Amino acid sequence: MERMVGAGQGPPEHRAIVVVGAGAAGLTTAIACAEECRARGLEPPPVLLLEGARRIGAKILVSGGGRCNVTHRAALPDDYHASRPVIRNVLREFSVEDTVAWFASLGVELKEEQTGKLFPVTDSARTVVAALVERAEAVGVEIRTGARVREIRGGDGEHAPFRIELEDGELTCDRLALATGGRSLPKSGSDGAGYAFARALGHTVTDTWPALVPLVLDPAFPHAEMSGISHRARLTVRVAGRQVEERTGDLLWTHFGISGPVAMDISRTWIAAAEAGETPRLELCFTPDFPREAVETELLESARRSPVRTIESWLSIELPRRLARWILGRADLPPRAPIAQIPRAERRRLLDQLDALPLPVTGPRGWNMAEVTAGGVPLAEIDHRTFASRRRPGLHLVGEILDCDGRIGGFNFQWAWAGGHLAGRALARSLPTGPIDARGDGAPADPMEDAGSRR
Ligand SMILES: Cc1cc2nc3c(=O)[nH]c(=O)nc-3n(C[C@H](O)[C@H](O)[C@H](O)COP(=O)(O)OP(=O)(O)OC[C@H]3O[C@@H](n4cnc5c(N)ncnc54)[C@H](O)[C@@H]3O)c2cc1C
Repeated sequence: MERMVGAGQGPPEHRAIVVVGAGAAGLTTAIACAEECRARGLEPPPVLLLEGARRIGAKILVSGGGRCNVTHRAALPDDYHASRPVIRNVLREFSVEDTVAWFASLGVELKEEQTGKLFPVTDSARTVVAALVERAEAVGVEIRTGARVREIRGGDGEHAPFRIELEDGELTCDRLALATGGRSLPKSGSDGAGYAFARALGHTVTDTWPALVPLVLDPAFPHAEMSGISHRARLTVRVAGRQVEERTGDLLWTHFGISGPVAMDISRTWIAAAEAGETPRLELCFTPDFPREAVETELLESARRSPVRTIESWLSIELPRRLARWILGRADLPPRAPIAQIPRAERRRLLDQLDALPLPVTGPRGWNMAEVTAGGVPLAEIDHRTFASRRRPGLHLVGEILDCDGRIGGFNFQWAWAGGHLAGRALARSLPTGPIDARGDGAPADPMEDAGSRR
């Protein structure tokens, strides 16, 4: 903190490049930038990484159930809610293969699970955070924790330095990367403050809402009876009778409602519709791999083959027994009824329950339980090759602060690693040569020199 001073004590500390936020995107940006600076002979790399929290990587540490789902076997535009051409281009510039190779270079070997998700072989997110911090330090990134940014101003002219107000002082910089994340898991430090910084620097911010979040069901609905049960399911969101989204995957019943990958993935669509003033409906299908007609045919054939088999036993072939009993209760069918003796009307009632059970969603579980933020700074406001702002020269935005969110499976981290690399390299390449090379900290050769005139 040699030259960081409070108001009235002289010129504030000046840096060539400041990255705000040391999450996945900010750490990657800072590392890629420092590496590129070194490759260009800028030693030490003039990169300062500011992190508001006391500890680095809180969100990485809790990710993937503490194992960190680093990326996915294949990341495609369809895995994201964002402009497809932009995602395609970004993932072409920094692909899953690049991520795997990069982590290997950090000493983190990844392993692939059946679902296509990639985790560190250690099964520990700590490995990821430790490797990122170690590399950042090794390549000369200066990291300051507990450095919460309060305000950022763009300076008086388009090319004037950015002024960053911290809790205990102020500093200025020529190039700035905002990697402050979104609003999900605010206790980790990502509380949406970055949106105000983006706005102050000329950007717009769309509405934001929690995504990849469990859904709460009306307490009058008997979901708590199934708490802890997990099974394969299909969820469908309908608005005014029209199907808006359909997803199949694992569903977990909880005391408050539903969770698990399929519920988390579809939550975004239900919430978006509700936020837009619509009345979205969520339907659950317990037999996602078979159409209703096929289920009915199988039931009738089973009744011919084994007429005395109970309906509970038949349902339990595909579903957990406790769940089977619960469904039968809802269909008003005795669990011990032999399948051959179920009248047509009751069979149809059961099929209705199995195929399209309406779930009375009251809302999302909230930002504290959301894995990601939907909405943010529109991708149209950045150059996707460099993640540079189209609104403010010298500014880059990267990671969750942008209006891009992926489904569960490692896609959100892939977005952060990819954007961080593109932004970091571009930041380094945008540096002028000259006094910055000589001093290494990006400070003007003459501290009184007008920063704007150095460009
Ligand atoms: C419980 C959970 C599990 C997840 N699991 C996975 C997973 O397994 N795989 C996956 O791909 N994605 C996962 N995600 C999503 C993933 O963590 C995010 O998409 C990713 O971390 C976003 O990275 P980021 O760097 O853009 O933002 P963040 O990780 O939110 O980092 C932003 C950083 O900026 C700092 N900051 C914010 N404001 C300020 C300020 N004013 N001053 C200084 N610093 C500031 C914050 O403290 C934070 O450290 C999970 C998320 C959660 C919450």
